[in-house]
Amino acid sequence: ASFWAKVPQAPKDPILGITEKFLADEDPCKMNLGVGAYRTDQGKPVVLDCVREAEKRIAGNFNMEYLPIGGLKEFNDLSVKLAYGDECAAIAEARVASIQTLSGTGSCRLMADFMHKFAPDATVYIPSPTWANHHNIWRDANVAQTSFRYYKPSTRGLDFEGMIEDIQTAPSGSFFLLHACAHNPTGVDPTSEQWSEISAVMKEKGHFPFFDMAYQGFASGDCVHDARAIRIFLDDGHQLGCSQSYAKNMGLYGQRVGCLTFEASAVESQMKAIARPMYSNPPVYGARIVTTVLGDEELKELWYKEVKGMADRIIHMRTLLRENLEGIGSSLPWNHVTDQIGMFCFSGLTPEQVDELANDHHIYMTRNGRISMAGVTSGTVGRLAEAMHKVTS
Ligand code: PMP
Repeated sequence: ASFWAKVPQAPKDPILGITEKFLADEDPCKMNLGVGAYRTDQGKPVVLDCVREAEKRIAGNFNMEYLPIGGLKEFNDLSVKLAYGDECAAIAEARVASIQTLSGTGSCRLMADFMHKFAPDATVYIPSPTWANHHNIWRDANVAQTSFRYYKPSTRGLDFEGMIEDIQTAPSGSFFLLHACAHNPTGVDPTSEQWSEISAVMKEKGHFPFFDMAYQGFASGDCVHDARAIRIFLDDGHQLGCSQSYAKNMGLYGQRVGCLTFEASAVESQMKAIARPMYSNPPVYGARIVTTVLGDEELKELWYKEVKGMADRIIHMRTLLRENLEGIGSSLPWNHVTDQIGMFCFSGLTPEQVDELANDHHIYMTRNGRISMAGVTSGTVGRLAEAMHKVTS
């Protein structure tokens, strides 16, 4: 028998499980709206022009030596400016430090491991619902977790009162995980006024805000606007933590480029001490691409335009989906389709309706009813609306 004969099968990842079913479906019109990856209006993956240009500039100009444990310094500096703003006092006064990470997942995991090591009794407050992997990340780092109210099914919008109440009743000095923009899976973000209020209450309670920013630019199309929550918190004097990912907004999914920013102090040395035995140092190629794009005014402009192009296409698909649903006579409210923002639409479809979409209409999405709007095209939106209408009427 194998040395590992006693190891049980791990449960299937819900999203990868959908992809498997999708691949096995032989219908030519099948649709995969499960994975959170951007597609063109022709349904194809895309490499941004700014990235292709950066690749050309990099080609042949660098060796393949290791990066330091904390990654490429220029990348970290440009990255934190993108999130915190060029004028950020915390950067000017060297009050923050950043390290390059294995994309957003790696940032979150490093933060979670750090918490386990230096705040072993802490509990992380996670929005309900959230990206499923958040739960796994903090679970595997052995950090206790609990949730705070975020989404209100009855309005398919923010449960602002519930959220404020949960922030107020959490023990002072609690650790809160917040999505900076384009909340996954709900597509529901607080308004600027609500962020200000959240910030004020968190400050009063002495909570620690940790922003997971996996979609800067993907919500509104404007990278500056999408960073407003972080900047409101900084203006209010919070000492926050921030995770950035370039998977979606620069389309660097498989390159694993991310950045973790925190208060400058012994924390930086300890983050490196955690990274060293885990992966030694981060990959170099993607960080060079981001550095080339963000470090060049022209390429950065081009990138801003291209992010806006992606966000606008998604917003347009939301409009079309709603128009189509209303046009074929659905009497249900579909305003949330256009009210929500970012890559996902939290449709309100039940798990049974999602199953029916897969079995009868060859349309695949997660069972919580989350539709990846980035996978919808002007060629498929009509069929999606018809199928959604059929399973909801
Ligand atoms: N946080 C959230 C909220 C996400 O949706 C994602 C991507 N699905 C990530 C983090 C991390 O993604 P990656 O590791 O690919 O950067």
